[in-house]
Amino acid sequence: MTGVRSFPVCCYCGACAAFIPFEKYREEEVVFDKGCGGTASKGFCFSFCPRSFAACRLCEGDCPKMEVCDFSPRASSLERRILGHYKEIISARAREESVRGAGQDGGAVTAMLCEALEKGFIDAAVVAVRTEDWKAEPFVATTPEEVLRGAGSKYTACPSVLGVWEAIDRGYENIAMVGTGCSVEAVRRLQALHDPALELDRVKVLIGLFCTEAFRHRDLVAFLAERGIDVKEVRRFYVAKGKFTAVTKDGEYSIPAKELEPCVRDTCKICDDFAARLADVSAGSSGSPDGCTSLIIRTKAGEEFVSVSRGAIETEKLDDVGIKRIERLAFNKKMRNYGMMMDQMGICSACLTNPYFFTLQAGD
Ligand SMILES: Cc1cc2nc3c(=O)[nH]c(=O)nc-3n(C[C@H](O)[C@H](O)[C@H](O)COP(=O)(O)OP(=O)(O)OC[C@H]3O[C@@H](n4cnc5c(N)ncnc54)[C@H](O)[C@@H]3O)c2cc1C
Ligand code: SF4
Ligand code: SF4
Repeated sequence: MTGVRSFPVCCYCGACAAFIPFEKYREEEVVFDKGCGGTASKGFCFSFCPRSFAACRLCEGDCPKMEVCDFSPRASSLERRILGHYKEIISARAREESVRGAGQDGGAVTAMLCEALEKGFIDAAVVAVRTEDWKAEPFVATTPEEVLRGAGSKYTACPSVLGVWEAIDRGYENIAMVGTGCSVEAVRRLQALHDPALELDRVKVLIGLFCTEAFRHRDLVAFLAERGIDVKEVRRFYVAKGKFTAVTKDGEYSIPAKELEPCVRDTCKICDDFAARLADVSAGSSGSPDGCTSLIIRTKAGEEFVSVSRGAIETEKLDDVGIKRIERLAFNKKMRNYGMMMDQMGICSACLTNPYFFTLQAGD
């Protein structure tokens, strides 16, 4: 792409899509000949792009509201800081077998969204649907049937915040968004601007997914094709016990997840958020028995959402072994990506000094 600067940092959350002409999105990231909002400019986009790494990381800065903020880690133990602030961690699964079957793990996220819609707690849920070749796309679901269309994990990036803009534009008042930690962070940053024109008070609940990494779509498709798997034939992907598995009508193809390293998005290598720390409720398979979803309930909004949806899920408290497992995964991700984050920001990881936010990559 001659003449176009390509930054590896965009996590394709979709937050800037409302402000940057959409044709600038190419190959699952924002590329822009003068640099995108999250990297080169210090404009409006810089304040909310989850990749601008602005000085304020919401609850991690020296914020005067820390004592009262729901996310404040001040009174928390070290373990709590690793997972972010939370009130309770439970293990859950959908009551209905059909929802469990459609969902990725326990189907708890789908079940709760359906119930919250039926109870009128929310009037729209931004979920991720997939194209025939497994590209993830945001979708504004307003009925339980539509929520079910989004069930299951797509391991490529989804510009979920685009769905939030659409839901606001369509006039929904009580919106839920499901997304990876980066998309959740984008919404939190937008909310922190307190700009009434953005109408982000209509976002009532953010459900964040645990996330080790996401794959670049075209690389995943090519990776599978090299192994004789047509992505269009895949019915489901799952990751368990270090293996990545594609399920087709002919059977299952499993490989060590490590072999997919070349497909991992660059931006995920500078990400330190495993447990979607800024969500109202975070969800993932880790920590829970097979067929269940771990739910980290973090905020009052998260508590209300789970309480309203309780009829649709079976729950039990997650034991210490499960919680420790999530903490270990979160800690490992931080440790693994810390050096790359510092490099990317042009900060020396030893002395933590350097004024430059981003070092452009070779070929910029
Ligand atoms: C890229 C990615 C990486 C993940 N990595 C881990 C991990 O390392 N460890 C772990 O424990 N869990 C991980 N998860 C979460 C896990 O796969 C399940 O989503 C979670 O356990 C919830 O299960 P469930 O059965 O309750 O969800 P479901 O009931 O199936 O609901 C899942 C919801 O997530 C939405 N969704 C699916 N894919 C995406 C996407 N790409 N972007 C935004 N929304 C999406 C769906 O539309 C649906 O609303 C990851 C998920 C994703 C998308
Ligand atoms: S990370 Fe999100 S806000 Fe930042 S450039 Fe990419 S799509 Fe835009
Ligand atoms: S690893 Fe981080 S940047 Fe990558 S998809 Fe997950 S939350 Fe987003």
